[in-house]
Amino acid sequence: MTAITYELVKKDAATGARAGIIHTPHGSFPTPIFMPVGTQASVKGVSPDELKDLGAGIILSNTYHLFLRPGMDLVREAGGLHKFMHWDRAILTDSGGFQVFSLGDLRKITEEGVTFRSHIDGSKKFLSPEVSMDVQMALGSDIVMAFDECVPYPADFQYAKQSTERTLRWLKRCKQAMTAPNQGLFGIVQGGMHKELREWSARETVALDLPGYAVGGLSVGEPKELMYEMLEYSTSLLPENKPRYLMGVGTPDCLVEGVQRGIDMFDCVYPTRVARNGMAMTWTGRLVMKNAQFTHDHHVLEEGCGCYACRNGYTRAYIRHLVRAGEIFGLRLLSLHNLWFLQEFMRRMRQAILEDRFGAFREEFFAHYVMHGKQ
Ligand SMILES: [Zn+2]
Repeated sequence: MTAITYELVKKDAATGARAGIIHTPHGSFPTPIFMPVGTQASVKGVSPDELKDLGAGIILSNTYHLFLRPGMDLVREAGGLHKFMHWDRAILTDSGGFQVFSLGDLRKITEEGVTFRSHIDGSKKFLSPEVSMDVQMALGSDIVMAFDECVPYPADFQYAKQSTERTLRWLKRCKQAMTAPNQGLFGIVQGGMHKELREWSARETVALDLPGYAVGGLSVGEPKELMYEMLEYSTSLLPENKPRYLMGVGTPDCLVEGVQRGIDMFDCVYPTRVARNGMAMTWTGRLVMKNAQFTHDHHVLEEGCGCYACRNGYTRAYIRHLVRAGEIFGLRLLSLHNLWFLQEFMRRMRQAILEDRFGAFREEFFAHYVMHGKQ
């Protein structure tokens, strides 16, 4: 009995895009899917009921942050993360690897694990494959990510090779340490921008027969074309009967490109972060609400949008006013809109796959969508 299973419903005839269903102990959800990020056991400013209202079936939370505060003992005492944060649908937790490796001079890496200073109080902490699994078992997330190093960009072949090999050794330790039967461990394919290493990493990771696989080490500063090339190559090496997760990607153009290459799951802080910067996501690109062009604009953020803000008629002029006045409600309306937008975006992609017209969806999307720099 595996905690996490994937059901392939339909493959687009012309591309690698696929529609499926992922089953977890906390419910099933359709794929492709976007997971809102609740870093500190909260999707910033949005309640669990609101997340359900916009159709989220799974959210992501961060092991690193919860490990430091409030700590795994407190979450275990509360009965796990689902109970602690009042969310009864699925949760994926990352491993903390990405955050500790990003600490630069504040951390020391050995084969055993990573010693680092807490960014909160400066105290000395230690994360390893075993500790990360312990914390994620205390959190009780449905999907558990392996403790790995996200190879930075650029990285020369030798560095990427050593890092990718260590990630595999650590994955084997994670598999050994993850003993909770109701949680599923996903392995992460690394290898930097080197196809030879990607191939080795995918082969060795898949050989461990895990319930799902992530493609890691992408969207780390490399040109998008290179990212897509590495992504396509990596997913071509993954089995069809398991979910595939592209970590840390959430701009609409990248979601379309990822789905086209056979990715099922995505996460990113993008929709809530840009909302807090006063921006709305739409089918034609981003709206910067502070701009004077919205002063007298008494239309909703996007015509036909089913989010709380648009559904109830909150206007661009009003939201612009709230953003300029620094009112929290304005940022909440934008967060609800952006999160809805991405859930709806994924739903429409899935529908297009089911109807064998993903290629047409993609063309139409890029014909209307205006990119804003690096996004
Ligand atoms: Zn809306």
